[in-house]
Amino acid sequence: MHDLTEGVERFRHDVFPAKAALFAELAATHRPKTLFIGCSDARVVPELITQSEPGELFVIRTAGNLVPAHTPGADGVAASVEYAVAVLGVGDIVVCGHSACGAMTALAEGHDLSAAPAVAEWLRHADASVARSAPAGDAPYAVDALIRENVRAQLANLATHPSVARALAGREVTLHGWVYDIPSGAVERLDGAGRPVTLAA
Ligand code: ZN
Repeated sequence: MHDLTEGVERFRHDVFPAKAALFAELAATHRPKTLFIGCSDARVVPELITQSEPGELFVIRTAGNLVPAHTPGADGVAASVEYAVAVLGVGDIVVCGHSACGAMTALAEGHDLSAAPAVAEWLRHADASVARSAPAGDAPYAVDALIRENVRAQLANLATHPSVARALAGREVTLHGWVYDIPSGAVERLDGAGRPVTLAA
């Protein structure tokens, strides 16, 4: 906790003054253009990867960057998606997976999650991802393939939310699938056919 307190001090003294005008504007304005849905993984920092300023990204981070498909009855993810799309009017939604994802690795390698029952239950939202990337025969699951397939599956889940479906029908929002590679910093996007394409070299 000491590190966090020092960080706040550095923010107040070194960072905040240089952006004081921005923060003054943001005090009364919240108009992010993008909803960024990433993994809770500490190594995947949306604002750092995209070099975004405060106020630019509306962020949802969940274990495995999972977005449960719409069901009656609200939850935190659904409420955040709806707020970003229907109230804030974001024009783009990025679902970003990443290399070495613990959630995807656990699924691909069949880890025993009996000591983490909430995690095991949550990861059921990746059932379609696992099913679609099933290897032939007895071959092991390829984690990288599952990570990409999971981004595609979560984009499909996202489209089941009424606010997103409405915005897609009205061509008011565009969905993007990304995968971030931790050791190289590279980001690939999945094209319309779901193939990986380098976003920025
Ligand atoms: Zn992850």
